Amino acid sequence: MNPSPAPLMSLEQALEQILDTITPIEALETRNIMDAFGRILAESIHSPLNVPPYQNSAMDGYAVRGDDLPASGETTLELIGTSWAGTPFTGEVGEKQCVRIMTGAKMPAGADTVIMQEDVQAREQHITIGKAHKAGQHVRHIGEDIREGEEVLQPGKLLRAAELGLLASLGIAQVQVQRPLKAAFFSTGDELRAPGEVLEEGQIYDSNRYTLFGMLKEQGLKIHDLGVIRDQREDVEAAFRRAAELADIVFTSGGVSVGDADFVKQTLEKLGTVNLWKIAMKPGKPLAFGRIDDAYFFGLPGNPVSAMATFYQVALPALRKLMGQTAQPPLRLKLRCLDSLKKRPGRIDFQRGILDYEGDELVVHSIGAQGSHILSGMSRANCFIILPAEQGTVEAGNMVDVQPFSSLR
Ligand code: AMP
Ligand code: MG
Repeated sequence: MNPSPAPLMSLEQALEQILDTITPIEALETRNIMDAFGRILAESIHSPLNVPPYQNSAMDGYAVRGDDLPASGETTLELIGTSWAGTPFTGEVGEKQCVRIMTGAKMPAGADTVIMQEDVQAREQHITIGKAHKAGQHVRHIGEDIREGEEVLQPGKLLRAAELGLLASLGIAQVQVQRPLKAAFFSTGDELRAPGEVLEEGQIYDSNRYTLFGMLKEQGLKIHDLGVIRDQREDVEAAFRRAAELADIVFTSGGVSVGDADFVKQTLEKLGTVNLWKIAMKPGKPLAFGRIDDAYFFGLPGNPVSAMATFYQVALPALRKLMGQTAQPPLRLKLRCLDSLKKRPGRIDFQRGILDYEGDELVVHSIGAQGSHILSGMSRANCFIILPAEQGTVEAGNMVDVQPFSSLR
């Protein structure tokens, strides 16, 4: 039987269709905030308190009354005590009085202004200050950062370092998060051997399983590695069944190009639903997407760079939606490209580039050879240079769209 021709589709169309079919998981867990690191928040967080919770000093110095500041010349104030961070001064600052105060310490009653310690002459129980101070200066106000009741985090937010700190600063010890997604993957191909094995004539090492492992780890997924599967119908079918049982999402690489497309397609059609597409992108092109029972399935192309580019450009937005994360378009910069880039109009191209500085201008270089099998280039690169479908060759010095790899992680 001849493979049915896969429809050619724009990347936007493919993404839209894929995202449309994805329903985010709804499996909530309550976790201590440190254990919630890297998870997706599943609730809305409102602040139970004002931050700062009390008026405090932004400087080490002296808390004074704004009314006592001299309009000209100098004034001398009586020192009546100290307000430490954690041990506030309990009295009240009266006329012509002041209190020694540390950064973060509570402003004593009566005082509304802080004079930096560098700006005073202190001797025993008195300080002398000059003019050029403003009433109210160097004081942090109640609720200046966050007001009580204010929504500080929304569901769908990826919890990283700043969010953990923010939650802790509000006294929140536990949050509801989505459970981590489970991914299963395997490589297909009779030519593939695992690192550590000996290569015979015509064989290569399997690298896609390792890049996939890394890319899925970057997103915090739990991983089931099903190894290399021979190009045998029964083996592939068994691997698909097992993967779908274990995981929310299954990734394979290889076996979706024209030569063996129908074989994978038939296996998948038997077990679930599948679309086989040729996406008008480079590298990439062939992609299978579908479902087996409750699991989603991505059949990535076999070429190592195609597999990575397709993962980041197509599978990642889907993965993020599935894990309940609010859509977050990766960073794009418009930068001068110092090299000319060969391209034929027709497909959107994700060339590999290196972001660098020329003087103080951020610019981009090409890594050179752009073959979809050149994995070393992917390692030297730190960004995709995105060339739109209709674009032809780019002259050196022209502006291009750049997507840093760091914004895909
Ligand atoms: P395929 O789509 O299976 O025809 O594979 C396309 C190309 O990618 C072939 O050159 C394969 O040898 C290569 N390839 C497929 N799977 C892998 C893998 N897991 N690691 C490295 N190269 C692969
Ligand atoms: Mg193959």
